[in-house]
Amino acid sequence: MEKTLSPPADAPARKAPASTEIPFFSQAAEFERLWPRIRNECVRVLDRGKFSHGAMVAEFERELARWTGARHVVGVNSGTDALVLLLRAAGLRPGDEVIVPAYTFVATASAVVLAGGVPVFADIERRGYGVDPASVAAAVGPRTRMVMPVHLFDRLADMAGVHEVARRHGLTVLEDSAEAIGMRLDGRHAGLLSTGGVLSFFPAKTLGAIGDAGALLTDDDGIAETARRLRHHGRAGRTLDDFPGIANPTVVSGCNSKMDDLQAAVLLAKLAGLDAAIARRAELSARYDARLRGLPGVRAVPGEVPPHPGGGRVVYVHLIEADRRDALVAHLAARGIGTETYYPLPLHLQPCFAHLGHAPGDFPRAEAACASAVALPLYPDLTDAQADRVCDAIEDFCTRRRR
Ligand SMILES: *Cc1c(COP(=O)(O)O)cnc(C)c1O
Repeated sequence: MEKTLSPPADAPARKAPASTEIPFFSQAAEFERLWPRIRNECVRVLDRGKFSHGAMVAEFERELARWTGARHVVGVNSGTDALVLLLRAAGLRPGDEVIVPAYTFVATASAVVLAGGVPVFADIERRGYGVDPASVAAAVGPRTRMVMPVHLFDRLADMAGVHEVARRHGLTVLEDSAEAIGMRLDGRHAGLLSTGGVLSFFPAKTLGAIGDAGALLTDDDGIAETARRLRHHGRAGRTLDDFPGIANPTVVSGCNSKMDDLQAAVLLAKLAGLDAAIARRAELSARYDARLRGLPGVRAVPGEVPPHPGGGRVVYVHLIEADRRDALVAHLAARGIGTETYYPLPLHLQPCFAHLGHAPGDFPRAEAACASAVALPLYPDLTDAQADRVCDAIEDFCTRRRR
């Protein structure tokens, strides 16, 4: 029987929803457009019958290594597990402190805990949303081993500033580059601006799977080899389940963080269209910028935004700050426009880190960003007309409250 993933002939045709709503994120149209290619890659996986950690994962790793310029790409089951494996493979020991920004996705800090370490928070910069090197320097203590800046939304953290502090204190630098696919500094891809970094392929990310997936990027042979073993129960081959030469059992046990071949198949198919997707996102983001610049009560936060070699910028999230953020979010929601508040609460005030003993006011810039930032809809198949409707609604909000 011929294998296809097409719906049976009597199935009702899929139709785009008739609603005029603009969701915060949708990959339905992109998926529809790329479907023949995605289906071909998925059928190859079904034909081979190897669904985890198989040849498709290896093929995707090779292609992603070519695309990013990384010496090693280790495919895993999520960006979070990629962070845990990176921290462990880079030599984090139980109780070691890792400095991370207070303003980021929770996984940046929870990965440190999962790897056996202790997160220590630092504030972000006035410009942009990267960790502030001066705040990193102030957070260094006798148990500090590593620092992990995060590249958020559409910009890189100040890597030169972080490296300078790290050199002075002998810290290893890693990157949470989960959001940063396509971002480069002087031609080097995010995640390769330090000892190593990660990518997340969570569906809403710039390169999204149809479930969870992630990867570790590094130019370091030893880190890549250790991460490859850790993702697969610590195995070097079919039988060897240990790490000779590493003594601490809490650090050496492997886990199951392997990537699914069907996710690799989808990602491989979408990788071919990634440059075009990035270019379209940049176009939409520039459209938002042009329309929203100068409106009272909203602003874009300045910062270094890395250009893409193909021209334009790399924008994962288009973020603006608003004086009356929650009212703006409600105003847009009433018009059927989805938004996200990245990030709703700084990590030092999250219940899961309450034991670290922080209070409001400890990291004022992270707290201010959480109170005012809002992300607008941004995905390749958002139309110009839809982006204009988002801008109309924001303009309406900003000018009406002045009258
Ligand atoms: C998405 C994201 C992660 C986690 O990735 P998952 O694939 O969802 O586990 C980690 N850090 C940052 C900054 C992210 O945006």
